[in-house]
Amino acid sequence: MKQVIDFVKTNREKEKQPAESLGFGKYFTDHMFVMDYDETRGWHEPKVVPYQPLTLEPSSMVFHYGQAIFEGLKAYRTQDGKVQLFRPNKNIERLNFSCQRMSIPTLDEELVLDAIMQLITIEKDWVPDGEGTSLYIRPFIIATEPYLGVRSSKRYKFLIILSPVGSYYGGDQLKPVKIYVEENYVRAAKGGVGHVKTSGNYAASLKAQEEAEALGYDQVLWLDAKENKYVEEVGSMNIFFKIKGEVVTPQLNGSILSGITRSSVLQLLEYWNVPVSERKISIEEVFDAYYRGELEEAFGAGTAAVISPVGELSWNNQKITFAQDRSDNIAKRLYESITNIQLGKEPDPFQWTL
Ligand code: PMP
Repeated sequence: MKQVIDFVKTNREKEKQPAESLGFGKYFTDHMFVMDYDETRGWHEPKVVPYQPLTLEPSSMVFHYGQAIFEGLKAYRTQDGKVQLFRPNKNIERLNFSCQRMSIPTLDEELVLDAIMQLITIEKDWVPDGEGTSLYIRPFIIATEPYLGVRSSKRYKFLIILSPVGSYYGGDQLKPVKIYVEENYVRAAKGGVGHVKTSGNYAASLKAQEEAEALGYDQVLWLDAKENKYVEEVGSMNIFFKIKGEVVTPQLNGSILSGITRSSVLQLLEYWNVPVSERKISIEEVFDAYYRGELEEAFGAGTAAVISPVGELSWNNQKITFAQDRSDNIAKRLYESITNIQLGKEPDPFQWTL
């Protein structure tokens, strides 16, 4: 039976920003979804309420032991003014996958989709329609039991907040990014939590990101924890290389996040009959391919920027750069196809939009 989601409407609507000043993740809509968990009631009382601060005990377990997970997806305004989501079921599935790894009680996937849909319907006027804009959806769960001691919390809060966003890097959608291959810090090891979206992964990445920025780079590329040899992923994107016409991406190995954009890229390439492979790829192989003139492109894929061509890659005091004007540029073709599907400008052969 479908669960009823209560709705408490705000009596103070906020002013909306013009598309060009949105930036990313700075503004939040009028309402949010909230649902609590405790041992006797399970997940209960789903409701949409005015966006507001949370009141939490300082002893809430999330502040001490970091039991927290999140997701990120987007709603788009289509040409005919409708609002649509891109593969929301995949994010909801991954949310539950993250729950399982982090010992958080899983959610009813139908209810989560219903919650997202209802919230988006209430906030439909917040979905911007400028070039490269969307409404970013951030579902997340935090451990709220007031208790000091390392074990799973017995209480949680699940929330969904919404943020109207502009282009991730501001301005040019396909701006090439400069990437620094990280060799000192490690993001995730096999058996750890790199393959799920838990907050601590991002906290652990900040130092490397800041050091790379100080050297003039946009993002860090992570290598495997064991041998510091195989490519894993970029800051918040999965990575792809085009070598002699074949698109190669690291195979999922228990420490890489299974990106929804990654899966969409793989599906599209197969649909276009472009050779693809998911396999282990060492950073040395990437550089060797470049020096042999066989590395044609490199790009990242993730919800925030969709596709980001790599402009420069730096590893072990060697810098390689990529020309962006190739006529067979696959990053551009992927970007256009995915965004066209998201915006309803192109048929959606995989039924990705909802
Ligand atoms: N890797 C990491 C570490 C990420 O945070 C993200 C963003 N969720 C991705 C890859 C790309 O995933 P998606 O395409 O689902 O946004």
